[in-house]
Amino acid sequence: MSIPTITVESLNKSFGHRQVLDDVSFRVIPGEMVALIGPSGSGKSTLLRHLVGLTCANRHSGGRVTLMEREIQSAGRLRRARRSERCRTGYIFQQFNLVGRLSVLTNVLIGTLGSMPRLRSLLGRFTDEERQRALACLARVGLEEMVHQRANTLSGGQMQRVAIARVLMQDAEVILADEPIASLDPRSAREVMEILSRIHAEDGRTVVITLHQVDVARRYCHRAIALKDGRLYFDGAIGELTDERLQALYENAGLDEL
Ligand code: ADP
Ligand code: MG
Repeated sequence: MSIPTITVESLNKSFGHRQVLDDVSFRVIPGEMVALIGPSGSGKSTLLRHLVGLTCANRHSGGRVTLMEREIQSAGRLRRARRSERCRTGYIFQQFNLVGRLSVLTNVLIGTLGSMPRLRSLLGRFTDEERQRALACLARVGLEEMVHQRANTLSGGQMQRVAIARVLMQDAEVILADEPIASLDPRSAREVMEILSRIHAEDGRTVVITLHQVDVARRYCHRAIALKDGRLYFDGAIGELTDERLQALYENAGLDEL
């Protein structure tokens, strides 16, 4: 059995008196594509942020998160992931997080840096080899024609594809995506899911993706982890997520969430 890529052990998180994650534990093994589902407010984004150390533990929190054998966080204390580790985890946001006035190519090149630099320091910073690699990443997401366009002139679907190219540039082994298709029209959403799925299949990268739409999760992911009120409600093969279980998962949520 391979060493898990992600191990979450008894993770708890509170904001004030509100407990948002309640004793959550699971493992993800290398090369899995896992859907993280659950009603709005169930703690999906908070959990995903813990996986990369974006959320600080506080004294109300506890548990352990291990990413590729390195502990990200232990009870009551955050160990900031070093640059090299941050690079091995790529994060994709619902709102893309591109630098709008920079070109598509530069936005992808930023993926080599591990953190957001001061923009002035970008000038002449990248090597030809890095540029070639960025172009190859953009070709994989079908944007090779748009490399010099400013990011803020793209459609939402194109912006999300740039964000995926940036993660490829990082050569991230683990891709964490928080509602990556929630702001997109159905066609762009399908394109983005197809690209993520292809990257997963071809490169064997581990993908954990929060999704609103269960039908999308069923189409692209083998496994689902479901949160309900901050607790682990389901963890298993997505085929075992029966309609009854789904109904109970979303029972207090608006119908539009199903
Ligand atoms: P989901 O992504 O499943 O919709 P979230 O993880 O965003 O859920 O939020 C879970 C709960 O935690 C919600 O009730 C939300 O209001 C609360 N929450 C999230 N972030 C914060 C924060 N920084 N401060 C206070 N409460 C927060
Ligand atoms: Mg969320």
